[in-house]
Amino acid sequence: MTAAALLCWALLPKPVPAGGTVDALSGTPALQTIIWPREMAPGRAWRFIIIHHSAAAAAPAKASAPGRPEGPSEDGVPYHFIIHRAAGPADGQVTATQQWIEQLDGASGRPTDRPDLGGDGIHICLVGDFDHQKPTARQMTSLQLLVMSLRDRYNIPLELIVGHSEINNTHCPGMLFPMEAFLMDVREAYLMKRIRGGSGEAP
Ligand SMILES: [Zn+2]
Repeated sequence: MTAAALLCWALLPKPVPAGGTVDALSGTPALQTIIWPREMAPGRAWRFIIIHHSAAAAAPAKASAPGRPEGPSEDGVPYHFIIHRAAGPADGQVTATQQWIEQLDGASGRPTDRPDLGGDGIHICLVGDFDHQKPTARQMTSLQLLVMSLRDRYNIPLELIVGHSEINNTHCPGMLFPMEAFLMDVREAYLMKRIRGGSGEAP
């Protein structure tokens, strides 16, 4: 098992210290208040988006892997965003972690299969073990809204929205994560937006 795969499995089931949590399904403005809060560090030129699962039933907490060269953020959660899994309305809620607020590298390491991308990836973790269960519909809707907001801001092309396993030797985000269907949903959402007279941006 690689260090990256180990990290996915090494996460402990503790509550996530939040930079901010919101019900993304309540609308894009609510989501954007936690993605770009006033106290955020100056923005970086993020180039790609990496999707993970927590490989556990609870939200990921501090990474146990030591020695991150860029230094840990205050809360030490190795992802920029967490999409929660829960019974009831908390299902699909999005947390922006301190790692995002401080605009630090994700701690899952640099992409060994795409070294050209460097450390400029936004790491999103969905809570759940998608080798054994599917993400919930609310998690997938929140993921879509989050990804669309991020790629609009940073001009990230669809082909640079990837599952962790596409750039590192790991099973993350699990066999049951519907990557292809997700990307088709995102593409379709942009087409609908264009038809309705939205931004008109090509997917
Ligand atoms: Zn991962």
